Formats: sequence, C-alpha cells, structure tokens
Amino acid sequence: MTFENTLHFAQQLDRNDPLRSFRDRFLIPQAGGKELIYFCGNSLGLQPKAAREALDRELTVWQHLAVEGWFMRPDQAEDTPWLSIHKRCKDPLAQIVGALPSEVVPMNNLTVNMHLMLTSFYRPAGQRTKILTIGGDFPSDQYALETHIQARGMNPADVLVEIFPREGESAWRGEDICNAIDTHRDTLALVLMSGLHYYTGQVFDMAAIARKALQAGVPVGFDLAHAIGNIPLWLHDWQVDFAFWCSYKYLNSGPGGVSGVFIHQKHHNANLPRLAGWWGYDEDSRFAMTKGFVPMAGADGWQLSTPTVLAMAVHHAALQITAEAGMDALRRKSEQLTAYLEFVLRNSGYPLEIMTPADPAGRGCQLSLLVHQDGKRLFNRLVEQGIIGDWREPDCIRLAPTPLYNTFEEVWHVGQILLKFRT
Ligand SMILES: *Cc1c(COP(=O)(O)O)cnc(C)c1O
Repeated sequence: MTFENTLHFAQQLDRNDPLRSFRDRFLIPQAGGKELIYFCGNSLGLQPKAAREALDRELTVWQHLAVEGWFMRPDQAEDTPWLSIHKRCKDPLAQIVGALPSEVVPMNNLTVNMHLMLTSFYRPAGQRTKILTIGGDFPSDQYALETHIQARGMNPADVLVEIFPREGESAWRGEDICNAIDTHRDTLALVLMSGLHYYTGQVFDMAAIARKALQAGVPVGFDLAHAIGNIPLWLHDWQVDFAFWCSYKYLNSGPGGVSGVFIHQKHHNANLPRLAGWWGYDEDSRFAMTKGFVPMAGADGWQLSTPTVLAMAVHHAALQITAEAGMDALRRKSEQLTAYLEFVLRNSGYPLEIMTPADPAGRGCQLSLLVHQDGKRLFNRLVEQGIIGDWREPDCIRLAPTPLYNTFEEVWHVGQILLKFRT
C-alpha cells in the first residue's frame, strides 16, 4: 500500500479498520480534557473497561460468600469458582500462544516462572552444561540466569554462551544464533532467550531456532514478555519446550498482572524435576493433604500457590478481548500501523535512526528510535504534546502503536509534531 501523510488518509485507514471498535473497550488516559496518544503498551497496556467489572464481581463474591467463594459462585454465575479460576484463562491463553489448553497455565510473575522453568529444563549433565542466550537480554532475565547457575554451584562465565549482533549492526542475524547452536551442540544443555527483544523490538525466528535446537537435542525456551499479544505464536507446532511471559504489556492485565507458562505436551508425562507447591497437586486429592507430591496433569502441575484471584479476574477479562480480536487480525493491523509510523517518521525528515528491523517479519508493533542529538529533549517535547512513549538512556525512544486501541490518526499526529520540531 502506498501511504500518504495526510489526516484524510489516516482517517480513511481508521474507517476501514475491522478492529476499530476495540478502542472503545479501553480507558484512554487524558490530560487537560484531551485523550493522550498512548504508545506505551509495550510497558503497561491500557485498562480494559471490563477490568473494573471483573474485579467488582469477585469483590462481591468475597463480600457475600467469603471462604465459600473458593467452591461456590453466586446464583446464575456461569464461571468457575476461585478454586479453579485459572481454568477460565486457559482457552484464551492457548489461542493467543498457539498451544493446547493443557499446555498453558496462568500463575506467579515472570521472573519467578523463569526460575521454575530453569529448574525443570536446565539439567546439565556430563559435557552438556552450557546455556545459549542472546547478549544484552532484559536485565531480570540476565540476573535469573546468572543466579540460577550459581545456585547450582557453577560459574556463569563458564556456562553462558551469549550471542551478540555483529560489529556495527543493531539486529541479531538469525543464522548467527542457529550456527552457534550447531557449533556448541555437544556442550549445550539449554537454549533460552527472548522471542522479541525489549530494546530493539526485533522478533527472533523462534520456529527456526526451535527446529535447530530440536535437531541438536537441546531443550529450548522463550521469554515472551514482548511477544505475547503482539505477534502470532505457534508454540505447540514449533515444538518449543517451554515459554513464559507477563500479562501487563500487550495483554493489558494491569500493573504486575499474572504471568503464565507454556510447557509442551511432550513433557507432560516425563516427570520432570520441579519446585512444587500444593496448588500443583492433583486436584481431586489436594485437600487430603497427604505426603508425597502428586502433580496435576500438564502445565497445571507446575502451579505453586493459592492463585491471586483478584488479579486473575482482571487477567481473564483482558485476555478475552485479545482472543476475541484474534492474533491474525491484530497482526494484520499491527503491520500496517507500524509501517505507517515508520512512514510518517521518515517523511518528517527529523534526524533519527530506526533501530528496529525494517522487515515486517522481523518486528512487532514497537519501533525503537535512536536520536543522537537532544534525544531527551525530543522525548520531553513529545510528552508535552500528549504523546506517551518511553525513554531508554542514553538516546532511545520506544514507540509502540498497539492494534487493539491505537489509531492511524494518532500515528499521523506523531509525524506532524516531528515536522514542527525539525526546524
Ligand atoms: C517486562 C519484562 C520482564 C519483567 O519481569 P517481571 O518478573 O514481570 O518483573 C522480564 N523479562 C523481559 C524480557 C521483559 O520484557
């Protein structure tokens, strides 16, 4: 499609957008009586209107039924009692990550889940002790790897194989990652990395990486914090061994919202080592409270604790919106929305560099801009104009137009403001 840098053209795209009604399901923050242009869904997604209602429903159950809320619902309510509230989230989650419902479970927070998955899937033995990852991954992931390795009495410097972009390039080359798996295949115990890089916005070819790891006989896992709800995923078909994510970014489940994990079906009967808790215990006999851990089938068997019911209720309400829109339709709009942002940025003539890959297959909705001169000043001016992105020291502005609630007209506005600032 040939883009035009006019308000009329942007509004035309909005009129033709099959997902345009979804914006109305969200509360758009305002300043001075005007809606902000919110391009920060990569950090905290906006509040769905359904969130308050979902929360309110559980507060009412707590009020009237109190402890019985674990086993009962109010008259006419069709959803599950708190005891199995996680089950409400399974279908939409499975749909969003391309999995079977038995392969996913919502629980805990991301970094906790990363440690749980490392316990089950990082099993160094003999020559095979190393973990292949990308250099410069999200700090929490780096700390989790480092300390997890130390907790097993090893030295991270001996264990981690970190792949970086080539000298002078900002994106990783897929072949460098796949070749490294080949090169280190005899000493690798695990491949674990982000599926979509938080800083550059690059999407990794998870299917190719998983295929290569499978050939090498090495388990592979992905951190999907920036990928879930942003790009279509087919974790089951790709034969990814495990994955984990957070839900407060593109899934709009609220600050610190419930995380989740994927564990491929092929591991469900393998009796993998795990850190267990009573909530992962076989549901039918959990309250017999006997000695000796008997896991629930599938991903549910990795649950540890009493679920955070209120957060889970909001998570469920938010998940339903993404599932209803569908990842295919979201991706179609997202590709166009981000391409339009790229177009208006370039058209503005503002001196900036786009770090995110230009190939639509190599990126999600986020564009990471390097502004070499006065980047912070530009960022502040955008904020003054009601445009909310995020700033990463020393010179990076990340803008993430999200297909659920952002519009082409908003994107057009960003270009207009840069045009004005250029001079
Ligand atoms: C956002 C994000 C996290 C955050 O982890 P929490 O445990 O939810 O605080 C971790 N890893 C990546 C790659 C992220 O993008």
